[in-house]
Amino acid sequence: MKLVNIKKYLCGLLFLGVLSYFAGSFTFASSIPALGFSVHKLESGVEGHTLLIIGGIQGDEPGGFNAASLIVTHYDILSGNVWIVPNLNFLSIIKRSRGVYGDLNRKFDKLHPNDPEYQTINRIKKLIIDPKVDLVLNLHDGSGFYRDTYDDRLHNQNRWGQCIIIDQASIDAKNFSNISTIAKTAVAHVNKHLLKEKELFHVNNTQTIKGNEEMAKTLTYFAIKNNKSAFGVEASKSFLTPKRAYYHLLAMESFFNQTGIRFKRNFQLSEYYIKKAIDDDIHVALNNRKILLKIENVRKKLSYIPLKKNSKIEFQVNNPLMTIVTSGDAYNVFHGNRWLTHLAPQYFHYDFSLDAIHMIVDGSRKKIPFGNIVSVKNSFMVESLKDHRVNIIGFTKQACPNESGIVIRKNNILKKYSIDKKGMIFRVEVYKSQKFSGMVLVDFGGDGLSDFNVASQKKKLDHSKNLF
Ligand SMILES: [Zn+2]
Repeated sequence: MKLVNIKKYLCGLLFLGVLSYFAGSFTFASSIPALGFSVHKLESGVEGHTLLIIGGIQGDEPGGFNAASLIVTHYDILSGNVWIVPNLNFLSIIKRSRGVYGDLNRKFDKLHPNDPEYQTINRIKKLIIDPKVDLVLNLHDGSGFYRDTYDDRLHNQNRWGQCIIIDQASIDAKNFSNISTIAKTAVAHVNKHLLKEKELFHVNNTQTIKGNEEMAKTLTYFAIKNNKSAFGVEASKSFLTPKRAYYHLLAMESFFNQTGIRFKRNFQLSEYYIKKAIDDDIHVALNNRKILLKIENVRKKLSYIPLKKNSKIEFQVNNPLMTIVTSGDAYNVFHGNRWLTHLAPQYFHYDFSLDAIHMIVDGSRKKIPFGNIVSVKNSFMVESLKDHRVNIIGFTKQACPNESGIVIRKNNILKKYSIDKKGMIFRVEVYKSQKFSGMVLVDFGGDGLSDFNVASQKKKLDHSKNLF
């Protein structure tokens, strides 16, 4: 998308009120300001160390925050614990800015209580010094390639990409005090899996205690001062996001190994599969899941979304980098740095007398709760309801007021009404008189996936918010 569009869609952002944030099983259960960061505690239940991973301290470093988010969505932790903050500077992430209120990674030493990020800094400091946390990783994307000698303009001591940053060689801590050795081991692990030889990782010791004033203001040095083992991980900004995330994930996996945290990754570690994993399976559920929208490959604008009259929109996302922000009378959906779609509402009173419909899908009868996606190969039909009417958005046949009881194929629906760019996913909406009852999506994508599974998704839809 063009930058112009982003600016346009971000106009409404600053006028956001307070956004209350209801946490799920592994996040804070407290109310925090708009676009506050989320904490995802992946706890295995098997005794072990606790690693804290922080992504998105600067909003324009998508390699780090996408990699952190992938740990939440695509990894299982089998022993020990991994706590992840994938979106520390969420407002700056959405605005594609290093820091809307200045550099957040220079606010860990002294900070005026009037600073707009004062609360953010206090929250994250509390997490860092939590007695359970053994080791802290702060993920960045840095320019060029760090080298301890001057090779050329892009490869020298003043560059930050492709290195593990440490403030000093060791600390006085019970666990993981030998920072230098741990960093060297991580670097060796990454260098074993380089995609190209010249992408070599190094250890960069900033020797902060010897008077490095800039580094003394950073998150990792705050951790060091509190006797926590801490590391910065920097992938190179010379790469596209999936490649940056590749190196971040490699480094993180070495830290898992070194802290005895066993894990399972649900995709193959390659640029191709990382790109897929970042984009796959992203959904937004609206208003207590009366509506579920599949956001992968979504059109730039979805019109006439039936929202609730005289109510605030309530939404849940299944990915920590996703959020919805108001824009005038409409809403914008974001994933990390990317603006994905614009939701233009139409307001209705809601009907709560029905929570599912029956459909004949490719010959078999199914009960589909609202807020679900049904895979259709050839045809579907919504069974007639006594008190409700069905509206299939884009259905072309005669202008009938109720589209239940009609066998429908893909070519009966106008492609431009799909919610996805490929023209495969369509809206089936149910109304009772003038009230909206709920929506189901039919997906002609034919990817062989089973129907959207309520149970398995429940775990992930933990990131719910209310917009005021
Ligand atoms: Zn950075």
